Amino acid sequence: MGYAKYTEDIEKIHSQNIFGTWLDFQVSPPVPHYHCPFCSFDTKVKDQLENHLLKEHRDAAIFLEHDDRIVPDRAVFRVRPVHLKVRCPALPNGIEVAVTSKSRPRGEKHFNDGQLLTITPPDEEIVLLMLCIGVFRREYAISFKKQVFQARLTPYLIECVSKANTSSTTWKWPDMGRFELDLMKETGLSTDEERHRLAIYEYYVGLWLEQNQKSEYARHLEKSFEVLRDFDDPLALLISSYFLYRVNSFISISPRLPFPRLRRVAAFFGTAGHDGDPNVMMSGCDAEQEFVLCEIAIADCDAAIFDAVSAVLDRKELEALRMCDTAEQRLTPGDDQAQARIWFLRYRILFGLGRSVEARFFADRLSRCVVESFRNEAESFLKRN
Ligand SMILES: [Zn+2]
Repeated sequence: MGYAKYTEDIEKIHSQNIFGTWLDFQVSPPVPHYHCPFCSFDTKVKDQLENHLLKEHRDAAIFLEHDDRIVPDRAVFRVRPVHLKVRCPALPNGIEVAVTSKSRPRGEKHFNDGQLLTITPPDEEIVLLMLCIGVFRREYAISFKKQVFQARLTPYLIECVSKANTSSTTWKWPDMGRFELDLMKETGLSTDEERHRLAIYEYYVGLWLEQNQKSEYARHLEKSFEVLRDFDDPLALLISSYFLYRVNSFISISPRLPFPRLRRVAAFFGTAGHDGDPNVMMSGCDAEQEFVLCEIAIADCDAAIFDAVSAVLDRKELEALRMCDTAEQRLTPGDDQAQARIWFLRYRILFGLGRSVEARFFADRLSRCVVESFRNEAESFLKRN
């Protein structure tokens, strides 16, 4: 009986404190020693290993898994909720994970390796997940789609669209009708592809009406967006992302958008009202160069806004202010969303130049504008100044 009791005690100690049990049998205490699991780096200081891991092997040291597969930085899911496994096998103290989306303000939680993170965002909404440890961070953008339709981008379609891009500014109403017939007469279109082509037509009708100052343009752009948002070809992605930009819904624009210019512009306006470092957000959205040959026509006011943003990012502030003047001249009367973008640009440029009296003037207008994130940034500026 005594023998059985003795065994039980050893097991109890062993499970409570493995390290302590070992020590009992060691002649001298072991020197702590930290070895990088990814290379030959070796240190006696634990913090140094952590720094090394995050500097040299960040992608391998902190990542997300879904169904035992590594999740890419930009991922689209169709099922929900999604259970993502937070992985940080070499970091026994775990990491912080921040989750942000439009419908849910930033929340941060601590996770240990292998713990599950569940997210259930509404359709189309992009959820940003930031895996953080100290100053190191890795950003994921997860989005959901109910259903994704496919449409081929045939050479014929590309040619039709390219014709519209170069000549629709001089088109009369009958030319728009011809454009629709041309788009629809391509042989072998599936039902989805017919819807896709019609939605592209709606987009160009919308632009054309806007250019001709007809107020019903907005309805056509919306109609086009409602259809194209569910397609995943580059043309549909470009048109629907441009629509989201037009209505200042920057958080809904996918950071995996394969169009660097629009992505940069969206990231620029998307930094409004965030307390985070704008540079971090910009770099997170511009990870690598991608090239997708795809072209659409856009409102010329927006072309000037795009140029202004590029000039701001290149630190050519005076040129940017000139582009704002151009944008203002081309502004469609009644387009409050575009007006707010121009005010925001001017405010940011003037603020950057230290011209705070003028910046205040535009902050004042922004504080009453239609875009919440612009209002927030303007209000906090006005409080400080
Ligand atoms: Zn290493």
